[in-house]
Amino acid sequence: MGEKNLGLASRVRPALRSFVPYDPAFSPCRVNLSANENTHEMPAEYVGAVRAALAATPLNRYPDPMANALRDALAERHGVGRGSVVVGNGGDEVLFNLLLAFGGPGRPLVTCPPDFSEYALFAQMTETPHVTVPRDAEDFSVDVDALVAAARGAALVIVTSPNNPTGNLLDRALVERLLDETDALVLVDEAYVEFAPPGSSVVDLVAARPRLVVLRTLSKAFGMAGVRAGYLVADPAVVDVLASVRQIYSVDVLAQAAALAAVTHRDALAPVVADVTSERERLSAGLAALPGVRVWPSAGNFVLVRVPGAHRVWERLRDEHSVLVRDFSSTPGLGDCLRISVGTRGENDVLLDALATLTREEA
Ligand code: PMP
Repeated sequence: MGEKNLGLASRVRPALRSFVPYDPAFSPCRVNLSANENTHEMPAEYVGAVRAALAATPLNRYPDPMANALRDALAERHGVGRGSVVVGNGGDEVLFNLLLAFGGPGRPLVTCPPDFSEYALFAQMTETPHVTVPRDAEDFSVDVDALVAAARGAALVIVTSPNNPTGNLLDRALVERLLDETDALVLVDEAYVEFAPPGSSVVDLVAARPRLVVLRTLSKAFGMAGVRAGYLVADPAVVDVLASVRQIYSVDVLAQAAALAAVTHRDALAPVVADVTSERERLSAGLAALPGVRVWPSAGNFVLVRVPGAHRVWERLRDEHSVLVRDFSSTPGLGDCLRISVGTRGENDVLLDALATLTREEA
């Protein structure tokens, strides 16, 4: 039978029919500040350790399915036992596995959009009912009472701190309230927490709070988005469930080796993180000084801005200045908003110059 007669639309599981391949229409640009990556040059000691670990890794053997050496290093980082850590192929995989294991039909997920788009995507894929408690339209804060009320009937709550793309930090008291007043599993997504002020993480609560799950990744502060290594810190019983449903070899030998070297040499990252946060403040001030541009405070390695004619500005940044940022202007609640990742000083200056020109011309 010819391909035309496959009848694919009706063969695909109904819950998955509306999905299209993820293609962020990536175009190579002079300055790419679109994906919240770490664009800084990493310290020689750190790069050297990672490269040496990669070079020493045999490729003929399967990986350790549980990545135990890496789990041990991560457990040591957070002062927990190995059993409290599960590693995945990026934070994305552990997020998906969480929905796969604890969501599904009849087990609602509650989130606070605008937030990380994968939550809604994975809920849909796993047929998890999705309840949203939208953030404040002005400052993107979470409506705590509404969230707690919605979470009372939920299996899972995901809150993001710092939140992508709005930059807000979450109050630790909110996490405690969710745990005290509901029966839900609470995932705090801390993908960007290294860029937030010290003490912003709630990972220290995990030991005493068996329904708290904390997500971390090596894609941001560690500068390893290409490696695909993320993890959860959670109660060992939760980790066991996630370990049971995961793709057993999803974290390959190179990812394990690179991540282990990176975590072991993490002290070398401090100056990079300090530079990103000081550049974030300089970039924010520069953006706020442009006519008609509104900037929200951010605790991550990105800033959200509102610019008149944002979509056109985004296109002109890309096509005329070869600068790529992320266009959120068609996301509900984010009309005319762009998200700009914090780059190096030089990259941020290119962006600021280009945006100064465009806002003048578009005025
Ligand atoms: N959580 C948030 C809030 C993110 O923004 C991202 C990446 N953009 C992730 C999790 C997942 O990151 P990764 O899969 O690269 O670890």
